[in-house]
Amino acid sequence: MSDTIFGKISRGEIPADIVYQDEAVVAFRDLNPQAPTHVLVIPRKPIPTLNALEAEDAELVGKLFLAARKIAEQEGIAAAGYRTVINCNAAAGQTVFHLHLHLLGGRPMGWPPG
Ligand code: AMP
Repeated sequence: MSDTIFGKISRGEIPADIVYQDEAVVAFRDLNPQAPTHVLVIPRKPIPTLNALEAEDAELVGKLFLAARKIAEQEGIAAAGYRTVINCNAAAGQTVFHLHLHLLGGRPMGWPPG
């Protein structure tokens, strides 16, 4: 499986503004934020896209969302509301092929998304 910039961040090989990490996931601020809070939550396991998820990853996906919930509280956006997004492949605009959940908040969100 090819390595990505997020794999390097998860292993501490390149810097990132890390806001949360545990044995399964790492979360850091997006370099090009689309909202006052824009954090990326990634599994340490290098899964390229949602299409590559296996049944054995079910617990890991739960941990991504539990980390997002914790970070939303930490960032003070839980009560007002926030959005989680996972882009899958080119049509959705995925540019980094290491599964990541976008956590966006701190401003009103439009719907439908672009
Ligand atoms: P996606 O389009 O869903 O693949 O999202 C990739 C996101 O990663 C974009 O929002 C980028 O701004 C962000 N990004 C790319 N490189 C880095 C990096 N080194 N540190 C933090 N965020 C990054």
